[in-house]
Amino acid sequence: MSTEPKFWEPNIETMSLEEMKKLQLTRLKAQLKYVYERSPFYRKKFDEAGVKPEDLKTLEDLKKFPFTTKMDLRQYAYPHGGELRCVPLSETPYFHCTSGTTGKPTVMYYTRNDQEKWANVMARALYGTGIRKGDIMLNNYGYGLFTGGLGFHYGAIKIGATVIPWGVGRTEALIEALRDYKCTVITGTPSYDYFIGELIQKKGLDPEKELNLKIAVPGAETWTEEMRRRIEEWLGLKAHGGGARMMYGLTEMFGPGVATECEYQNGMHVWVDQYYAEIIDPDTGEPLEPGEQGELVLTNLVAEAMPLIRYRTRDITKLIYDPCECGRVAFPRMPGVLGRVDDAFSYKGTKIYPSAIAERIMKFNEVQEFQIVFDKTVMPYRLTVRIEVPPEKRSPALKEAILSEIDKAVFVRPELEFVDVGSLPRWEGKAKRVVTLEPK
Ligand SMILES: [Zn+2]
Repeated sequence: MSTEPKFWEPNIETMSLEEMKKLQLTRLKAQLKYVYERSPFYRKKFDEAGVKPEDLKTLEDLKKFPFTTKMDLRQYAYPHGGELRCVPLSETPYFHCTSGTTGKPTVMYYTRNDQEKWANVMARALYGTGIRKGDIMLNNYGYGLFTGGLGFHYGAIKIGATVIPWGVGRTEALIEALRDYKCTVITGTPSYDYFIGELIQKKGLDPEKELNLKIAVPGAETWTEEMRRRIEEWLGLKAHGGGARMMYGLTEMFGPGVATECEYQNGMHVWVDQYYAEIIDPDTGEPLEPGEQGELVLTNLVAEAMPLIRYRTRDITKLIYDPCECGRVAFPRMPGVLGRVDDAFSYKGTKIYPSAIAERIMKFNEVQEFQIVFDKTVMPYRLTVRIEVPPEKRSPALKEAILSEIDKAVFVRPELEFVDVGSLPRWEGKAKRVVTLEPK
């Protein structure tokens, strides 16, 4: 490699853990004071909980402060940021929101500074995945209200990469564009990357010779190591010296850019100089020990328009503190979203996260796609896993092997059905592989 710098922001990315804690404490104190003085929502919430910003003397003191929930945002922030907004509306030229499929949309406003910080942390994240000036990135995250499209767009152009603002869909044309524009980077949900990969295979294209793809940055949903392996193979990433590197984020925390994998691909570094991260027990709200699995709670450290304090993401994960080879020792890694608090369902007395089942199923090369159906219209409830396997590869032994893997992960044995290849839905955006049938 040339003499190009290894890090986007060396002074931040090479901090020691101690230096980081100091920085976090300074920023946290300032952020708490800021929201208490400017947001009627937080003033009331802190007063009701009997805490003042000055009560935070150490990072551990944050647990004295109340949580912020999605319900709070729906109730108090819609449509213009309401009681959570800390600056006049005229100071927030940027806007995004969630799709609002399960209620009022969650809105996010950004000041010019917020947007600049977001673009910068996205540039840091994308640079960390290996993207450089001169790369050609086909961005197939949705543009528009969703933060994915513009978040990646802002970050990549800041690095100096050329961005093709594709958006979502038109997969046949997209594959042609990948080839003709000699794209080196592709973004999008892992399900969509997977679908594109499948189609490239079907068309008989040789990704190693006919495409130039080196880096994929999947995000916005859960994947498995097996999906990563297949995406890397089908898109020819490894052959060009790169790989598929995961990104995590959420609209409530600006968008993508909360955590990202580096080139070592061993979990996503959480950018904890911008977002303070805690892991709590989702049932009791108590903080868990480092390394334990629980709900991720995030606090903005440098936001202006609508900083959130102890926001409950509903995402289940854990934080890994072992040093990564890249040298970013102050940035713990999360292995991905291991489940959603809301997706968990109770079956035969066991709490099950569908993603845990997915992880096991995808280990089998014979499986092309799958669907998990939780049927609550019958008693007792029925859990069925449908898997696409070509007829010649089906066998009782394969069925038993898959069931035994699932049993190891979630301690139940669902019903397992082989279905025809291509019969289950494919996904251009976030996959919906878990179907719950509710009684009428
Ligand atoms: Zn690393």
